[in-house]
Amino acid sequence: MKLIHKFKSLNYDKRNNKKISFLILHYTALPSIADSIKYLCDKKNKVSCHYIISQNGKIYNLVDEKYRAWHAGQSAWLLEKDLNSASIGIELDFSTNNNNNKFSKLLIESLISLLIYLKKKYKINKKNILGHSDIAPYRKIDPGEKFPWKKLYNLDLSYNPKKVSLIESEKIRIWFRKNKIYSNKSKILIMLNFIGYDITKSINNNSSYKSLISNYKSHYIQKSNTKYSNTKLFNFIEKHFCSLLLTRPKN
Ligand SMILES: [Zn+2]
Repeated sequence: MKLIHKFKSLNYDKRNNKKISFLILHYTALPSIADSIKYLCDKKNKVSCHYIISQNGKIYNLVDEKYRAWHAGQSAWLLEKDLNSASIGIELDFSTNNNNNKFSKLLIESLISLLIYLKKKYKINKKNILGHSDIAPYRKIDPGEKFPWKKLYNLDLSYNPKKVSLIESEKIRIWFRKNKIYSNKSKILIMLNFIGYDITKSINNNSSYKSLISNYKSHYIQKSNTKYSNTKLFNFIEKHFCSLLLTRPKN
């Protein structure tokens, strides 16, 4: 894997002694790699990332891994609120409105090599390889539903919920009943919160709830269209929740 060090961004600071435990994926939403590098290296924009990958698969290192790049913004996952300090940010040269509106084979191949390298180097749990839309679901939609998450989980580079037994899902249903949680929305929010999503904005705001659901679908189901029924969605989230519940170590 070849890394290009020709361009550097000054938009970074210290990691606050935080361990690198997340890899966060983005798309640039700009027309070209040249525009994106220029933007990410311009001091006045106050944004950056560690790596950016071009449509032809070139990997540019803009910020040294040991520093805190500014790609996540206000975001959260489980108890982590400072994702910039705890992650490596990877931008992909992609924009839905321009000619770079496909995740090219070369781009994805380079991304896979980079993820394999970083996952091994920092012993990153595949559950922590996430999109910007996962950690900031009310503000961001990247890397979007076209991003090939399936390819990543086939290579053990992303989490894909396993099938759970009927007994396990029945246990969850009993637990909800016991705790008097009846509406599907409340159940979904509890489960998404357990998975890692910040649900605070969704509780009393329907359009925020919709953003959360649409971002969940774009990562795990990859269908943000309405053809996917609510029952199917509920069952999928339940499967995701159960499979995590069965594997997460108890403190
Ligand atoms: Zn982003």
